[in-house]
Amino acid sequence: MENPVKEQVKKIPNRPGVYIYRNASGEVIYVGKAKSLRKRVQNYFHSPRALPFNVRYLIDEIASLEFIITGSEMEALILECNLIKKHRPKYNINLKDDKKYPFIAITINDSYPRVFFTRKIVRDGPLYFGPFTSARAVRRTIKSIQTLFPIRNCKGPRPGKSASTPCLNFHLERCLAPCVGEVREEEYRRMIDQVILFLKGRHQDLIQHFERRMWDYSRQEDFEKAARVRDQITALKHMIEEQKISLDEEMDLDIIASAHKEEIACIELFSTRGGKMVARDHFLLEGVKGVEERVYLSSFLKLHYQETPFVPQEILVSTDIEDRELIEQWLTQERGSRVRVSVPLKGEKKRLMEMAAENAYYDLDFLAEKRRTEKESESGVLVELKEILDLPRFPRRIEGYDISTIMGQSSVGSMVVFEEGRSKKSDYKRFRIKTVDGQDDYAMLAEVIGRRFGRWLDQTSPWDSSFKKIPDLIVVDGGKGQLSVSRKRLMEMSLENLPIIGLAKRMEEIYKVDEDRSLSLPPDSEALKLLQRVRDEAHRFALSYHRKLRDADTIRSILDEIPGLGEKRKQLLVDHFGSFQEVVEATLEELYAVKGIPRAVAESIFRHFHRF
Ligand code: SF4
Repeated sequence: MENPVKEQVKKIPNRPGVYIYRNASGEVIYVGKAKSLRKRVQNYFHSPRALPFNVRYLIDEIASLEFIITGSEMEALILECNLIKKHRPKYNINLKDDKKYPFIAITINDSYPRVFFTRKIVRDGPLYFGPFTSARAVRRTIKSIQTLFPIRNCKGPRPGKSASTPCLNFHLERCLAPCVGEVREEEYRRMIDQVILFLKGRHQDLIQHFERRMWDYSRQEDFEKAARVRDQITALKHMIEEQKISLDEEMDLDIIASAHKEEIACIELFSTRGGKMVARDHFLLEGVKGVEERVYLSSFLKLHYQETPFVPQEILVSTDIEDRELIEQWLTQERGSRVRVSVPLKGEKKRLMEMAAENAYYDLDFLAEKRRTEKESESGVLVELKEILDLPRFPRRIEGYDISTIMGQSSVGSMVVFEEGRSKKSDYKRFRIKTVDGQDDYAMLAEVIGRRFGRWLDQTSPWDSSFKKIPDLIVVDGGKGQLSVSRKRLMEMSLENLPIIGLAKRMEEIYKVDEDRSLSLPPDSEALKLLQRVRDEAHRFALSYHRKLRDADTIRSILDEIPGLGEKRKQLLVDHFGSFQEVVEATLEELYAVKGIPRAVAESIFRHFHRF
C-alpha cells in the first residue's frame, strides 16, 4: 500500500528546516534536518536504498510527517538537536545513557563565594568549570582545592552556620572564617581568584604567586604563615606531577576518537583544560550499524555539546565529520568565540588522538561484552516473570506505583518505569494528591491510577511522553487492599486487561488478581529481585517528593508569619525563584528584584531567615 505521507511530500517547501516522522501511535520515531526539506524528505520515499542503513527500515513505520521551516540550516541544526533530546526517537543515533555532567561551581556573585560540586547549571549564576566526566575526579579536585585554599564550605549565600561562632573548619585552619569577620572580603576574593587560576590549569602562575607570598612572610618573620604557604606549594607541585598528560599550549581541547562493532560505537573523550588533561570518559552510541564514522561522530558532537555549557576552543576528531562547518558555526555561537573541529595530522595532538583511539578499541570490547551479558540476563528475567505471573506479553515495560503521606499531609503518589528490566527515569511521574482528604492510602492510590491511565485514554489532550505507552505489567506497593482498589479503578476505565500485581513488603508476597493465596518466590529469584527494584524505586521516588513538599509546606507556614506577605505575594516569590527553598536562600538584592514585592516586605523576608 502507498504510504499516505508520500502525497504530503509534494507540498513540502524547498526551505531549510526540520522534519519529524511519527508512527501509528503518534510516537516520534525520527527527527532530521535539511537545507531543503522537500528534497531530503523525497529521498526517503524515492530512493530508500540510498539511505543510511540505520534509517532504511523506518519507511514502513512512518504514519505521519510534520515539518518546521527555519530561517537557516543552522537554526534547523539547533532545533534538530533539541527535538532529538526531547523525544529520543528510536531511529536516531542515541547516546545510551543520559548523563548529567558534574561541574565545579563558584558562587562569584556572593561576597564570600563558595566552591561546590553540582550537576545543575543555572544560567547567569555561579561560574562553572567542567563538564567533567567523572564525578569522583571532581570530588577529588574539590578536596584538593580545600587542601590548598582555606575557603568556606558552609552552604547558602552568606557564610556561617546557625551558631554565631565559626565551625571546626576554622579551628583546623581549613577556613578563614568569614562568618565571624576573620577575613576581609578583598582578601577572601583574592583567594577565590587563585582557585580560578588553579581550575584553569594555570599552575605555574599559581606557584609563582605562592612563592612570592612565602618570601614576603619570611621577610616579615612570620614563619608560621610562610611554612603554611610552603606546604601549599609542595601539595600543588605534587598534584601537577600526577597529571602526566599535558600539551605544550595552554589551551582547552577535547579529543574525540571512536571504535565500533555491529550496532554500537564507543566514543572516547579526553578533555584538556589549560593544556592539562582533566578528564577522560567513554560513551556508548547505539544504532550505528552500517553508519559511517563521520556520520555518527557528527551525531555525537551534536548530542554531547548540546548538554554541556562549556565548549572548548578546539575539538579534535578521529575523522572529518559530516556537517563539520555547520557544527563549527553552531559551537562558535555557543561558546561566543571561534571553535575549530579538525583531524590532527601530526605532533602531540596526533599522539593524543592515537591514545584516545586505542582506548576506544579497548573500551568497546569491554562495553560490548557487558551489554551482551546485560541483555541476556535481562531477557532471562523477563521470560521468568512472564511465566511466573502468567502474563500475556513479556513485561518489557513495568510501571510501579506507591503513595507517600503522613496523616494525610503533603500526600503524593509516584509512578516509576522500568523498560527491558532497567529504570527509565525520563518517564517517571509524581502526582500531588488532589481529591482525598485525610489518611486514606487506598483512595490515593486509586486517584493516581485513575489520573495516569486517564491521560492515556484522553487522546485529545497533548500527550506527555511518559503516558504515551501502556505498561505490560503494573506493580503496586502493597497487598490485597492496594491491588483491589487499583484494579477496580482500571475496570472503571475498561482497562481490566492490564496485568497488575501487588508486592507486599512484609514477607515479599506477590498478590495476583482473583487469586486468594499470595505467591512467594525464593529470595534469590531474579524475577523477584526485579519486582522489588520496581517497588522500592516507586517508594523512594514518592518519599523524596513527599519530603520536598513537606519542607516546602513548613517553609510556607514560616512565611505565613511574615507581615505583609499574603498568598498572592507568596505565589509571586515561588514563581520567581522556582521553590520556597530558593526563597529562603535568596540574597536581599534578589528579593528586591522580584516584581510585586515591596522593598519593606523583601527586607522582612530576608531578616526573617537570616536573623540580623
Ligand atoms: S568557619 Fe564559618 S565560614 Fe568557614 S565553613 Fe565554618 S561556618 Fe562557614
